[in-house]
Amino acid sequence: MKVLSHKDAAYARFVKKLNRRAVPGAAGSQVEEIVSSIVSDVQKRGNAAVFEYTEKFDGLRLSAKSLFVSQEEIDEAYAAVDADVKKAVAASRRNIHAFAKRSMRKDWKAKNREGVIVGERFTPYDRVGVYVPGGKAPLVSSALMTAAFGQATGVPEILAATPAGKDGKINPALLYALVESGATEIIKVGGAQAIAAMALGTKSVLPVEKIFGPGNSFVVEAKRQLVGAVSIDLLPGPSEVLIVADKTANAQFIAADMLAQAEHGGDSVIGFATNSKALLNKVEKELEKQAAELSREKYLREVLKNGTFCLLTKSIEEAVEICNAFAPEHLSLVVENEDCWLDQIRTAGAIYVGPLAAVAVGDFLAGPSHTLPTGGSGKSFSGLRADQFQRRASIVRMDQQALQKSLPAVETFSRVEGLDAHGRSVSIRVE
Ligand code: NAD
Repeated sequence: MKVLSHKDAAYARFVKKLNRRAVPGAAGSQVEEIVSSIVSDVQKRGNAAVFEYTEKFDGLRLSAKSLFVSQEEIDEAYAAVDADVKKAVAASRRNIHAFAKRSMRKDWKAKNREGVIVGERFTPYDRVGVYVPGGKAPLVSSALMTAAFGQATGVPEILAATPAGKDGKINPALLYALVESGATEIIKVGGAQAIAAMALGTKSVLPVEKIFGPGNSFVVEAKRQLVGAVSIDLLPGPSEVLIVADKTANAQFIAADMLAQAEHGGDSVIGFATNSKALLNKVEKELEKQAAELSREKYLREVLKNGTFCLLTKSIEEAVEICNAFAPEHLSLVVENEDCWLDQIRTAGAIYVGPLAAVAVGDFLAGPSHTLPTGGSGKSFSGLRADQFQRRASIVRMDQQALQKSLPAVETFSRVEGLDAHGRSVSIRVE
């Protein structure tokens, strides 16, 4: 764990490094090379390549028949999942739908200065793909936090991909949540091969128009490489949280929120910036104490060792500047005059305001998607939203009067651009 005070010599250099720019994926790295060969192999050999990589990375031998989750498996999952899980899935889905309905785009029209009627029309995509990670934990909530937004928008075909266990089984709660969230087909494939199969199609898998969802570095890199063949939501990679707090904050709550993101393990990043030395000391102690009491201690220790920083800043203002430069996936803001500081935050994917706003409530239940930009990509991307499942088309209509009023400017553009057919196509209607 990196603990630095603004008085330390290494502080300025460390803080400068936190000003992240999302590099184009894993450019130049081994991950880029591995993913690029998986993608081109799936493009050339389709199913055969998908099955080989699934066997290699996930130890599961698939066939064209066992690639898709069957109705029997779905029925089994519905029977196996207990009532509490069903209730929690329903509660989360209800909140997601309510949130999605508000952020969905609605058709509109208006008249411009010349009297031309202009507007926009929004229609759901016909067929999308959602990736639900399944490597380290069965992320039941990730099924909801991607697919249920497509369901709320009215997407008729949702193809979900998630890695199955060596026995070919998918966690029943995850399967249940996927079906409840509108998944119409589910393939038992993970990693870059899943993204390539959804984007490019194979003999068994019909290609999709857009791909959504988080994953590890192979999944994220595959999405980046396949942009063009499909569009994507964003590049949501390993989990992150930054906590900006002053002396009014509760050290136990802060440590608990940090560990909640750290338990994703791997490349997760957790940060804490405060202007209170006393709070910093307390949080350090709490992290140790609470980590020892939790079940995923192995992952927690890994992230506490390699992916954690605690900074004693000169002021809250400086902590907020660091936050904007870092562009965290989740920000927890626990300071006096919180609204005032909230106005200064520009790059965080999701902002949790106040001491009681536990990040886990947002991750599982509150309504906004937990699929959020990481790795500094929050500077250019926002989190997953319902309107990303909608295509938009602009609409233009006009009558004789609007056409006449538009003619002079159109003729001027036609002349300066040397495109007389453009001008003629309007004047011919006015003559
Ligand atoms: P995953 O499903 O993303 O990845 C598992 C797949 O990776 C496997 O099926 C395998 O095919 C592939 N793979 C593994 N090792 C490989 C290798 N050496 N070469 C090529 N492919 C390989 O599951 P995960 O690994 O548990 O990762 C999930 C990630 O998603 C975590 O980092 C988590 O933090 C992140 N996440 C992010 C968000 C967000 O919104 N940003 C939300 C939820 C989860």
